[in-house]
Amino acid sequence: MSRVPEFRNFINGEWTTSCSGATIENRNPADRSQVLGVFQKSGAQDVLKAIEAAGEAYKRWRLVPAPRRAEILFRVAEILVRRKEEFARDMTQEMGKVLAETRGDVQEAIDMSYFTAGEGRRLYGQTTPAELPNKFAMSVRSPLGVCSLITPWNFPMAIPSWKLIPALVCGNTVVLKPATDTPHSAYNLVKTCEEAGIPGGVINLVTGSGAEVGTPMMTHPEVKLVSFTGSTETGKTVSEACAPAFKHCNLEMGGKNVIIVMDDAKLDLAVEGAVWGGFGTSGQRCTAASRVVVHKKVYNQFIDRFATQTRLLRVGNGLDPNVDMGPVINESQLKTVINYAEIGKSEGARLVCGGNPLQKGELAKGFFHEPTIFSDVAPKMRIAQEEIFGPIVSVLPANDFEEAVEIANDVKYGLSAAIYTQDINRAFAAMRDMVTGIFYVNSSTIGAEVHLPFGGTKQTGNGHREAGIQALDIFSEWKSIYVDYSGRLQKAQIDHD
Ligand code: NAD
Repeated sequence: MSRVPEFRNFINGEWTTSCSGATIENRNPADRSQVLGVFQKSGAQDVLKAIEAAGEAYKRWRLVPAPRRAEILFRVAEILVRRKEEFARDMTQEMGKVLAETRGDVQEAIDMSYFTAGEGRRLYGQTTPAELPNKFAMSVRSPLGVCSLITPWNFPMAIPSWKLIPALVCGNTVVLKPATDTPHSAYNLVKTCEEAGIPGGVINLVTGSGAEVGTPMMTHPEVKLVSFTGSTETGKTVSEACAPAFKHCNLEMGGKNVIIVMDDAKLDLAVEGAVWGGFGTSGQRCTAASRVVVHKKVYNQFIDRFATQTRLLRVGNGLDPNVDMGPVINESQLKTVINYAEIGKSEGARLVCGGNPLQKGELAKGFFHEPTIFSDVAPKMRIAQEEIFGPIVSVLPANDFEEAVEIANDVKYGLSAAIYTQDINRAFAAMRDMVTGIFYVNSSTIGAEVHLPFGGTKQTGNGHREAGIQALDIFSEWKSIYVDYSGRLQKAQIDHD
């Protein structure tokens, strides 16, 4: 039997064990008997060391010229390109999604690193005319200091990279805590950064649970920003923890994304979009299309075709190239999905297909659930309102465009929405009226590009956007600078203040 590898925290440029010596097993959700590695079960003392190291390193890193910082980030991208396949396989094993999707996850980290490396030569501020003669006015970006990054398991390399890379180019240092279920992908990213030449202490990786590691990461006075992606419930805890000291915090949280299918839609496109939007990553994308609102004229036809395509999905181990959908992340998530399938039935929705966990043969080893469709879902049912984060899609009928948009907006979240229609006027009206951070026309709710801002409205976010140049606004703050070369006394300028 081969030895289970042990993975360590990365603190002050050293790979170290947790102060308590405790570890956590990382198991494959497609085969829970497979232990992929053991990771450090860290606590407050480990976090303290990491924050101290980040604080020391900040004194030097903030003074490294941004184009030089960016060159290292460019090398991160180059190494990720070389090791993409290996990292994708590691990710499929620890997280379950199919290889095509984990390749896409690593690719997002690559894209983010290349894009942000370019920003190192820009990080633009403003120069503006001053009000007085012989005076110069400009604004520049300043780093914040030590940033705590707390990330979820569903995009285990992409999301850490979306925070880490912009944080570093702006001149901050970081402590990163990946989700308990997916430390390996974050480890691979941090190892890559080390290999690319990021100096010791600039990035610190501390693995462990949300309560034990996350809490001290949010409350320590040296930490200036908490950047969090995860559930709305945990986001509220983060927000409350940051409030007393007015720490910056950016929150990317839950969703209940929606596809609108109009009567003039190309139905084959809409069905395909609903299948991949709903069941890609087993419905565990933050942008997953967990609701489809369909015009009543094409409602029955849409459901028949959606169910037919869904029944063809092959569920299994994501490393198998013939598999379309992997397991859900863990036992607790599987129980949540099973529970919502029951809730849907008890609320009176019609179960069109699926509805059960998969427990036969090889599938009994992991956390598998059938891709599940409910039709005749009413807008106020829990399955139409609450984030399930699993392979369950609710289909709701609508009488017309206005009603479809109203139903689509009637949730507390606002991440992603899509419309399928051939009518350009309706497409633009929906683009204007959907209260979401991301909107698609004739394409599903999934698939973001790193040079555009990413994030949501309402209880999905707190007003920030990751990715794009907008991410720089999270990880830096503005300083306005006035240079007076007139030699005038201040008193002479007072009426201009
Ligand atoms: P989660 O909220 O359970 O955990 C997210 C992270 O927070 C993990 O690292 C976890 O260990 C940590 N954490 C948990 N409790 C904590 C606490 N009390 N203090 C500090 N940290 C704590 O979320 P999850 O299950 O990992 O991820 C799924 C959720 O993430 C879904 O709601 C999904 O919609 C959301 N998500 C949102 C986006 C987005 O961009 N809006 C992207 C991906 C995932």
